[in-house]
Amino acid sequence: MTQAGQLAGTPGHASAPRAIVVGGGISGLVAARELSLTGHQVDVFEASPRFGGAVASHQVAGLDLDAGADSFAVRSTAVADLATELGLGASLQSPNPAGSWLYHAVDGAKRGGPRAMPMPATALLGIPADPWAEDVKTVIGAAGCVRAATDLAMPVTRRQAKEPISLGELVAARMGQAVLESLVTPIVAGVHSADPTTLDVDTVAPGLRAAMAEHHSLARGVAALRASAPAGSAVGGLAGGMHRLTGALLAELDAAGARLHPGTPVVSIARAEPSHDPSEDGWDVTVEGRETPESADRLVIATPGPAAVDLLAGLLPDAAALRPKTGHGIALVTLVVDQPELDAAPRGTGLLVAPGTPGIRAKALTHATAKWEWLADEAGPGTHVLRLSYGRLSDAPGTIPADDAVLRDIAIADASALLGVPVSAADVVGWDVVRHDAALPFATTGHRDRVEAFRTALAGHPGLEVVGAWLAGTGLASVVADTRARTSITAS
Ligand SMILES: Cc1cc2nc3c(=O)[nH]c(=O)nc-3n(C[C@H](O)[C@H](O)[C@H](O)COP(=O)(O)OP(=O)(O)OC[C@H]3O[C@@H](n4cnc5c(N)ncnc54)[C@H](O)[C@@H]3O)c2cc1C
Repeated sequence: MTQAGQLAGTPGHASAPRAIVVGGGISGLVAARELSLTGHQVDVFEASPRFGGAVASHQVAGLDLDAGADSFAVRSTAVADLATELGLGASLQSPNPAGSWLYHAVDGAKRGGPRAMPMPATALLGIPADPWAEDVKTVIGAAGCVRAATDLAMPVTRRQAKEPISLGELVAARMGQAVLESLVTPIVAGVHSADPTTLDVDTVAPGLRAAMAEHHSLARGVAALRASAPAGSAVGGLAGGMHRLTGALLAELDAAGARLHPGTPVVSIARAEPSHDPSEDGWDVTVEGRETPESADRLVIATPGPAAVDLLAGLLPDAAALRPKTGHGIALVTLVVDQPELDAAPRGTGLLVAPGTPGIRAKALTHATAKWEWLADEAGPGTHVLRLSYGRLSDAPGTIPADDAVLRDIAIADASALLGVPVSAADVVGWDVVRHDAALPFATTGHRDRVEAFRTALAGHPGLEVVGAWLAGTGLASVVADTRARTSITAS
């Protein structure tokens, strides 16, 4: 049941406390909803012409498709709960359990070039729960398994358990290079656009180190985390696309009287005139092109990291240490193709490509019509939606062609090779390229500690909250849970 009725209560009153949310991505909209639910009159300022940030839609060949996120992790009920509260509960879906495949060429020279193979079934970010599993052996070979299995007997060092360490260093130390390069790197590149040797293990795999320490092995730690996760698929989605979450949030906020301002970048924030009691201080927010600032009792900054760091520069200079590295954009090429051979879903729900695999420039391909039943129904037999992503953190700037048509042709060639089914330009009935500039936050080693220090500094500024993936971690599950926790009534 939607809570629009409940939302529509207090905020219309002139005496309602005022809240401003800067950034109308999913974290900003969720924050706005929480504040509205707690009786605030809310204004949301969004720089771009449309709301949703990385949870948006686009139309390709007459189909409404996700332009960014298409799923959410179900390790917690955060996203499903929100969707249900927004009236979307009946649309929650699980993807095709066939899962994704891996495309790599680690032994390419010996075995005759790159190969596609199903992803090991029991793993976390590619780290196997059983180093001896047959599907692990298929990817890393017997020698790789022998090395990976040393993890089962090796003591867990203090550094591995407690000190800042990257995901890549931990995996290499415990299970060896084959697991790192052939299993973990392609998955991490697909999910986080990053190299695992730079990623903070606690941010991308929360709870893994504690489970490893408790069970004296990384593999057993993975097994324990998987056992405690809900049964079934690790992700869920929404029939009609994840962008319906954005639409439902906007509709509810609108019904509640929140004021939504697209195309309105915020250029600066400041404390309002200091009062006697700092806990009563408000905030001034200046939007582009207007001289008079907007005032609010509560302020939530929900922009990506770089914009937030700039807005906070005068107030929280320490935020600069968290500024994500920029310049590593990603591009998504969506192809809608008529190719009935794809009805058989030859590579499950898609493939992740190991870095350096010859002949392929994509880092991942999602066979969306094989992944989501609702989409296969909408597209009809013989028509398929393929989404290829480009842009690894290790890529040199300018690696992704700026010309959309050039990128489309590369995607067509990549799709044919990855799926093992011929796809030609003549099969393409619609296509689109969506570019995200440095959209995924980059959680380098020690990220959690820096976030903690930042939160501590923020605590000295009552009425100000900062949310978003750059702090909470990439992914809707992290963003929704963290934003709700920080902006709900209990956090006020
Ligand atoms: C291509 C892609 C695919 C993804 N796929 C998945 C997936 O399948 N599953 C999953 O769980 N996660 C996925 N993610 C990650 C997930 O979508 C993000 O973690 C999440 O949506 C981030 O939300 P956010 O609100 O923190 O940031 P954003 O979505 O980046 O929103 C921030 C907003 O702030 C606005 N803004 C910036 N500066 C200003 C300013 N000065 N004034 C006003 N507004 C400003 C921006 O325009 C933007 O709309 C994906 C991300 C991308 C990019």
